Amino acid sequence: MQSMPLELPEFPKLAAGEVWLVGAGPGDPRLLTLMAAHALRSAEAIVHDALIDMRILSLASDGARLYPAGKRGGKPSAQQSDITERVIALASEGRKVVRLKGGDPFVFGRGGEEARALARAGITYRIVPGLTSGLSAAALAGIPATTRETNHAVILATGHRAPGEDSVRDWEAIARTGQPVIFYMAMARLEEITHAFLRVGTHPDTPVTIIASATYSNERIVETRIASACVDAQASDIEPPAIVIIGNITGLRPELSATLIGAD
Ligand code: SAH
Repeated sequence: MQSMPLELPEFPKLAAGEVWLVGAGPGDPRLLTLMAAHALRSAEAIVHDALIDMRILSLASDGARLYPAGKRGGKPSAQQSDITERVIALASEGRKVVRLKGGDPFVFGRGGEEARALARAGITYRIVPGLTSGLSAAALAGIPATTRETNHAVILATGHRAPGEDSVRDWEAIARTGQPVIFYMAMARLEEITHAFLRVGTHPDTPVTIIASATYSNERIVETRIASACVDAQASDIEPPAIVIIGNITGLRPELSATLIGAD
């Protein structure tokens, strides 16, 4: 990155046989970290998720090989071990490997599992955090994760659980905290989630904002209330990938967005 100011500390070198687990942010390449851009330019092999803005991959150097390792919701989890095996195989061959994951690698991205597999295989690796979609999609839409007037905590939750897990009970427990919740992967189970909230006494008028494809050209935002979130989501045809934000922080959006410039 030739035009970097001199005050920046030097970037570490991506060495042969090393894996960097890199967060790609929510989509827009301009929201990549400098370290992520450096990693992409250094890599010989890039194993990337499906949920990556393809413009990000244009940062790769000419000789780099790209390995799509898409895992979109609902597919069998056996694929996860294939991805991990491929990453380990590339590193074992002495490649400089970047494992590029959407958002932040350690937020609902199974980055923890991949890191564990690398550690077990004795492969040297580095984590390059990224902007997680939940917080950045909210921020870009004019929804602060916290304000002193509204909340003292914010919960990041997943709507996608492994079969057999008692997710309904978990959602009820989350709802009882009364704190705002930022849901990932929640569109398929929006009805169950909102019902769980209503069952434990969440006010039906609690504001909900759904942000789909944040920072992409097809980004969409639906503002609704918890009692009507499902109907409104269906009527609007809003589709995953989406973040569902439940709680009073979303109520700040109208005031904040009066003069807020969008992501472009
Ligand atoms: N590690 C990622 C999350 C992976 S789970 C992160 O930190 O962001 C995938 C889920 O992330 C999607 O189902 C969706 O809920 C959310 N997501 C990712 N990118 C998104 C985007 N651009 N807009 C809205 N939601 C997004």
